[in-house]
Amino acid sequence: MTNSPNARPDLTAIFAHIDAHRQEYLDRLFTYLRQPSISAHGLGIAETAEHIAGVMRPLGLEPRIIPTSGWPLVLGERNDRPGAPTVILYGHYDVQPPDPLELWDSPPFEPTIRDGKIYARGVGDNKGQHFAQILGIEATLAVLGTLPCNVKVLLEGEEEIGSPRMPEFIREHRDELDADLVITADGPTHESGQGTLHFGVRGVLSFELRARGANHDLHSGNWGGIAPNPIWTLIHLLGTMKNDQGTVTIDGFYDNVQPLTPLEREALEALPVDLPKIKRELELDALDAPAERGFFERLSAWPTFTINGFHGGYGGPGSKTVLPHEAYVKCDIRLVEAQTADEIFAKVAAHVRKYGPNVEIVRQGSMDPSKTPIESVYTAPLVGAITAAQGTPLLVPALGGSLPDYVFTKILGIPAFGTPYANADEANHAPNENLEIERFYNGIKTGAAVLAYLGALEPAGE
Ligand SMILES: [Zn+2]
Repeated sequence: MTNSPNARPDLTAIFAHIDAHRQEYLDRLFTYLRQPSISAHGLGIAETAEHIAGVMRPLGLEPRIIPTSGWPLVLGERNDRPGAPTVILYGHYDVQPPDPLELWDSPPFEPTIRDGKIYARGVGDNKGQHFAQILGIEATLAVLGTLPCNVKVLLEGEEEIGSPRMPEFIREHRDELDADLVITADGPTHESGQGTLHFGVRGVLSFELRARGANHDLHSGNWGGIAPNPIWTLIHLLGTMKNDQGTVTIDGFYDNVQPLTPLEREALEALPVDLPKIKRELELDALDAPAERGFFERLSAWPTFTINGFHGGYGGPGSKTVLPHEAYVKCDIRLVEAQTADEIFAKVAAHVRKYGPNVEIVRQGSMDPSKTPIESVYTAPLVGAITAAQGTPLLVPALGGSLPDYVFTKILGIPAFGTPYANADEANHAPNENLEIERFYNGIKTGAAVLAYLGALEPAGE
């Protein structure tokens, strides 16, 4: 498919319809937000899946609530234009637990407006954002009577507990999820407030290293220099894994790191960042090594090796002349395209066998990275749609954090894009989660514009 140079759909009537229904849309969002759906506790899950399916049904999306061995997914679709692109709109109807409740200024499941923001658990993450996309479908249907492209709405109920069943679900329902691209509206936009289109996420691999000495703690005078000290064992091992130039020195660690393309480098350099302000706020004199690397290049283009915690021995008041008998470190590695968690774990384990043969390595959670090329045929229509609804977006090659986008790019094999609508200070997962009201309306407009711009793509050769 190509983007016709004249493909700028007229959204005037749809945007006017959205503006005319602001209060109604807000009221309906509030009804949705009042419904708790805490996946960690199973609270309100079934009712919320029913509720959102009930919102989708009158739009002809024929929603189905699909059970899994955990919480169900909701999948609805409309295929109005065979031959036009089919887009999956992915979101999640579950929310984080609201604790600690005493830190909320208004009850988490009683949406409240203060200073132009809606406060409620899940308003940004993610009910407000996917509800806006669904209202974008509704507004388009109200004005045009049909959708300009084909749509599948896929809402998960376990995102906030790590999407444990998504890979299996995607594999099992591959045929029903046949599509050309997937769009997720979740997370905050860039902190400058400008709209954002992101193309990927880093992956993550967590593991623990455990060292043991004697079978119990010993007197450092009687046994120091005789029994090995597991804390030193770990320090020596860790010292072989990363140097003070910021380079990870595990054999083959960077072998599969994809270099930035010229377009990605250009996009990263265009992202605004106020380094002096960041340093001031964090009370940092310098960033981590290597000093010359750009802020967003660090987050998008490079893997990291972080020691999350180092535990062992005595840490109480005063001193204790003890020789500890065990120590452990918890670590994570953020992965970039095209590293995989399996590959990097095997390399770390081989390194540990070589440099710390008595150290035990225990694998914990992992998620592969994901990246869609900025050169994708869908980039231009998505940039056009976001620009029409909220102004020119920033392009982010990959987020520093991790989301299970790889299930779409690597299992379904389709490009995945992020079009977040929430404000940078949305406080997702925290007390007083919020969404600026105008961003909710911009999200509805963006949702409608995305359908229009994708529908304006023409098959190649025509
Ligand atoms: Zn979340």
